[in-house]
Amino acid sequence: MDLIIRAGRNDHTVIDHFLTPTAAGVFAPSRQPIDAVVADASIAAQRPQLQRITADAGVPYLIDPVTPLLQSEQAENDSWATLPFAHPEPLVPTDINDYMLDELVERVVDFQRSTGATHLIPPYFYSNRRDDVWWRANLALLRRTGHHLSREGVNLPVIPVLAVSLREYGPEMTWDRGLDAFLAATGEMNTESVALSWSWNNPPRSKQAAIALLLGATAHAASRSSIIGWRAGTFGLALAAVGASGYETGIGERESLHYVSLAASRRPKADSSPPRAQAYTYFSEFGRSLPRRAGEAILKDPRIMGSLVCNPDNACCTEGADSMIHQWREHTVRERRRELTQLETMPAARGWRLNHIEQKADRAAVLVASANEALSEAGVDVRIPTESFAAMQDVASSMRARLNSQVA
Ligand SMILES: [Zn+2]
Repeated sequence: MDLIIRAGRNDHTVIDHFLTPTAAGVFAPSRQPIDAVVADASIAAQRPQLQRITADAGVPYLIDPVTPLLQSEQAENDSWATLPFAHPEPLVPTDINDYMLDELVERVVDFQRSTGATHLIPPYFYSNRRDDVWWRANLALLRRTGHHLSREGVNLPVIPVLAVSLREYGPEMTWDRGLDAFLAATGEMNTESVALSWSWNNPPRSKQAAIALLLGATAHAASRSSIIGWRAGTFGLALAAVGASGYETGIGERESLHYVSLAASRRPKADSSPPRAQAYTYFSEFGRSLPRRAGEAILKDPRIMGSLVCNPDNACCTEGADSMIHQWREHTVRERRRELTQLETMPAARGWRLNHIEQKADRAAVLVASANEALSEAGVDVRIPTESFAAMQDVASSMRARLNSQVA
């Protein structure tokens, strides 16, 4: 199962550390923790060393054109909007025609090839409504990318991204003309895997309905194609348990993406100072990262720190809580890798893996209450949303019950 890391502006050092084999002999990790690196096109332009680091290590390097940004207005001087295939003015449906789509395909593919991508991501739009103009454009983009690559004799593996609203495209009755139609269209090129980028409001607060759609639709897609959970740090492990071959996430940040919020957050503002670099703490028990000040408060609380501190048996954080706080990038990557490895070494039957997810969510539901108490007592203004843990437990349990009844 693959862990694909989305490199932020300041992540190249830790990625270099993981991919450059300096630790040899008995201390060498048995497996490289990162299976592929993806960078937003704007980061790829600013950090050319990512291409060198991944090439030296022989690790796939993907460049995400993040073309849903074409659907909203960007600041004139924005680092993404000044890329050769981008522009600050938003596209409107009447802009879409064959000529425009072909030009977009050509520029996006050229950009990825010139910045050293080993796999290609066709341009894609975010579809918020079934069968809207962006959806139809997405199917056309796949077809046109296939034609372009074969005309140019480009044989790089392709990873198409499906970026859609979970509520619109997750329900089973929509699969035929939605999810399945997209998967079928990806068969027209050298597709290695399909990246599913399910989008909904505030994933950490997901209730049962959203999680049931997420796992149900992903399991269905994984029965037809090789699937990567995209922008999927929050629920990546559960996606792998239902059949995804891995998932993609940022380190600390970018553990999920709601495209509607992305568009809103990028509207040009009077204050255009870049956001300050933040530090995070990843908690394996919760499968997500918190701002460092919250991580510190939780790891100082004697009632709960024992349950949440990085296990010394895992050869990860030699200084315990201190390492979790200060080597937070390394800790996050190693722990996410360890969780996937633990899952893939279990018996392949889906029931085992769902049971693992269920047990984990059950534990998290108990621990999260104490963690929030610790945060409240320490006067930290962060709370961990609690809804998704009980919901995940319920959904995993009912999926497992259904599997059992099919077997019986
Ligand atoms: Zn650790």
